[in-house]
Amino acid sequence: MKVIKFGGSSLASAEQVKKVIQIIKDDDKRRFVVVSAPGKRASNDRKVTDLLIDLYDACITNKETFATIDAIYQRYAEIAAPFGIDSAVLADILESLQTLATLPITDNSYFLDEILSAGENNNAKLIASICQASGIPARYINPKELGIVVTNEPQNAHILTKAYKKIYEWRHAKEILIIPGFFGYTENGQICTFSRGGSDISGAIVARGLRASLYENFTDVNGIYAAHPGYIHEPETIAELTYREMRELAYAGFSVFHEEALMPCFQASIPVVIKNTNNPSHPGTQIVTERTNLERPVVGISSDEGFSMIYLSKYLMNKEVGFTLRILEIFRDFDLNYEHMPSGIDDLSIIFRSEQLNEETEEELLRKIAYEINPDELRITHDLSLVVVVGEGMKQRVGSMAESTAALARKNINLEMINQGSSEVSFMFGIHKEREKDAIRSLYYTFFE
Ligand code: ASP
Repeated sequence: MKVIKFGGSSLASAEQVKKVIQIIKDDDKRRFVVVSAPGKRASNDRKVTDLLIDLYDACITNKETFATIDAIYQRYAEIAAPFGIDSAVLADILESLQTLATLPITDNSYFLDEILSAGENNNAKLIASICQASGIPARYINPKELGIVVTNEPQNAHILTKAYKKIYEWRHAKEILIIPGFFGYTENGQICTFSRGGSDISGAIVARGLRASLYENFTDVNGIYAAHPGYIHEPETIAELTYREMRELAYAGFSVFHEEALMPCFQASIPVVIKNTNNPSHPGTQIVTERTNLERPVVGISSDEGFSMIYLSKYLMNKEVGFTLRILEIFRDFDLNYEHMPSGIDDLSIIFRSEQLNEETEEELLRKIAYEINPDELRITHDLSLVVVVGEGMKQRVGSMAESTAALARKNINLEMINQGSSEVSFMFGIHKEREKDAIRSLYYTFFE
């Protein structure tokens, strides 16, 4: 049995929903369907979730809400139009949207969550009716009834382990269940959403709870590309990669799938496949626990900009007990999250996202390090990009690092930092952000063509 999830772009219009209906019909193992709210129909369009945020803003600033409610309602009405569904369904959606504007605001930490959840909740009701009108025996189910119990952190819920047992009880449901993504209920029965893009998380939770054989995640690309299509013309789609590889790639910019959504499937060893609603016969990208085909050393190359690096060296540093601890304590005092800390015998670099510092805090930080650590050399570099080369196949193979550095050298790209983690699944280069595109290109053509 498979759990299938459709993202917002797959549900943005009646035309897209027709494809979704066909995809559900095509495979009778697709018994549990998780849906997002309607997304963008074109790049200049707005997601229903973003319109709901407008509604929230209007409510808390005491502004008129009619136009926004109508704009949201029209999105559902437009999707429903060609399917000939019962008019009561749309009336129900309109009423639920109008009710949002009357909810209590003061002392209600979940006000935004209640508003946001309406996007997927109404969509699940609508898609269930469209399924029925199209001859699919389906019904809407509320996440509370299904058992999605979450922590009480507004807009950042996490699943409670006990939820999985309850969800499992639905395994033999007679009808195909249409489940709204993005939210669950706290133990006190309060609606609470996951972080943005969280319908992926709902799908993964349902797949784990039901012990599904596969979690199919339908979106608007053929799968995960081996490199950013903005840098490489028509990059290859990765056929198969492991959770670990996916995690490494996602770290530096691969954002097809919500990062937190991998966890439940990883824990239960349920394979995930990313597929394209607009091209469903394409096999997509499969994420698995272990890969059998390791012929190619590298699966993907990703990159992200916006990093800074503090370098410090001190003679005989490695003999001082607690040296690193003291530096990290300073980072903690500045509420700074660091990403990497490659070190040598008497020196180390700390890499972190630049946005966490401003001119003033940077000066203070350097002053504090200089005062407390008394290094021989201390400097900070900005405008760094991290380029990550990922592949389990590199473990069995000699020379991947040599080939990579040679490729970068041919392009005259200066390496500010090299970091190979202990896993041997990836390594990382810190380079100036202006050379990011060249670096990705030279690495891609080294390993892929
Ligand atoms: N609709 C929500 C969002 O836009 C959740 C999702 O689509 O996954 O963030």
